[in-house]
Amino acid sequence: MYQSFIGLEVHIHLLTKTKVFCGCRSAFGDEPNTNICPVCMGYPGVLPSLNAEALRMGCVVAAALNCAIPERTWFERKQYFYPDMPKNYQISQFASPLGRDGYLDIEGRGIQKQVRIKECHLEEDAGKMIHTGAASLLDYNRAGMALLEIVTEPDMETGEEAELFIQQLRRLVRYLGVCDGNMEEGSLRADANVSINRAGRGLGNKVEIKNLNSSRFVRLGLTYEILRQSALLDAGKPVVQETRLWNQNRDQTEQMRVKENAHDYRYFPEPDLPVFAPDPAFLNAVKAGLVELPLPRTGRFERDYGLGAETAEALCDEKALADYFEEAAALAETFGLSRADGAARLANWLLTDMKRALSRAGVSPAGIGSFTLTARRLASLVSLVALERVSMKNGKQAFEEAVRDDRDPESIIKERGWERLTDSDLIGEAVRKVADAEARTVDLVKAARAAGNRKRERSLTAYLVGKVLEATGGRADPKIAGAHLNALLTPPSPQPPQPPAV
Ligand SMILES: [Zn+2]
Repeated sequence: MYQSFIGLEVHIHLLTKTKVFCGCRSAFGDEPNTNICPVCMGYPGVLPSLNAEALRMGCVVAAALNCAIPERTWFERKQYFYPDMPKNYQISQFASPLGRDGYLDIEGRGIQKQVRIKECHLEEDAGKMIHTGAASLLDYNRAGMALLEIVTEPDMETGEEAELFIQQLRRLVRYLGVCDGNMEEGSLRADANVSINRAGRGLGNKVEIKNLNSSRFVRLGLTYEILRQSALLDAGKPVVQETRLWNQNRDQTEQMRVKENAHDYRYFPEPDLPVFAPDPAFLNAVKAGLVELPLPRTGRFERDYGLGAETAEALCDEKALADYFEEAAALAETFGLSRADGAARLANWLLTDMKRALSRAGVSPAGIGSFTLTARRLASLVSLVALERVSMKNGKQAFEEAVRDDRDPESIIKERGWERLTDSDLIGEAVRKVADAEARTVDLVKAARAAGNRKRERSLTAYLVGKVLEATGGRADPKIAGAHLNALLTPPSPQPPQPPAV
């Protein structure tokens, strides 16, 4: 048996408005080479200046990953030539990363693990090369955008663990509001390295895998690579230290380049940027950015609201959804529902009806906060159903109309006359009318009752109650209707003989 060691290097694009060392707009999808200036184009004599927001966001991620934040941090120049990097060096961090020695707990799908974080460092992104048939085009809009690189220790053992790590890291940075986590657009990119060896012999020769632009490809690429390396060792062949690419069309990794000697990037401190020493105000700003993280929040949802693990996890998958749920749950309590009842009902509506409504409207779960059906509207509707002031069927109809017309469901219910009918006299009248129209069924119920056939009696009674609901537009309280029906079916008890009138 072999032991595998998987490490990940994840680059995340920080959601700053401007680039990390100049004032250019930081955005995807703009016309090529429109967000550029002499600084990010590397003209001679220009001076970079650090974007404080990028530094704060980087430190927030580092702190959320339980890293120690250094008392002093600075930047280095990493020298190499590539056409997408106009300066011929990248401003990055080498000796004093923003965070070191942290960890991320990952949990789910039968996996529970602590993955150590070696370091997080801030750097600038390179531009983008677009290869056409005859030429290669360059777009420098991305050059100089703020990137945070997160490097793990080789603590994962399977493709599934690495996939879960990526998913939970993605959820974390989205919770922190520092990255949109869009892997397809490249705002979260992962490279993996994997080595296998006989158990107890430590790391084997390391193979890097690139081009893993979805968490699924991370799992598939690593699973493939572990099998490939195992087969080599089984056959007594060595694993070559190299860089491989994931080919998503062939579901396999392919050789990209055999590892030359480690690059000498000639790092030296960036002379145009000062050393940064976070002061108490900065550290407070970092602390303020540390919202309640997804994993502890899931645990709290289970404890505080009595939700099952899967439901709690589904609600906490997206911060906006979890926030919406909590706002609605608090309101449902003020509307008279118990905390557990309100929470269970809201979770149910959110994960079924609301999910469908959002997807129909083309709104992602992250956009639920600005959806037409606000938390207050949903809480009020769910409470009306729970308190039996409207039937479930009419409640669902009100939900659909409230979403469609951007209206308050309670006023739709009033306007449509869908409020549950509890007036005993009115219901009694409806029951008598139904009994007249369904005289044969009434006789059958009486016969079933006389014969002691409880099952048949119950099903026939349910049919009659259904008819009463139908006659009242689904509004009659079924309990009151049932009581009236029961009275009607019970023969009057014999009257004691009256004394003769004098
Ligand atoms: Zn610029």
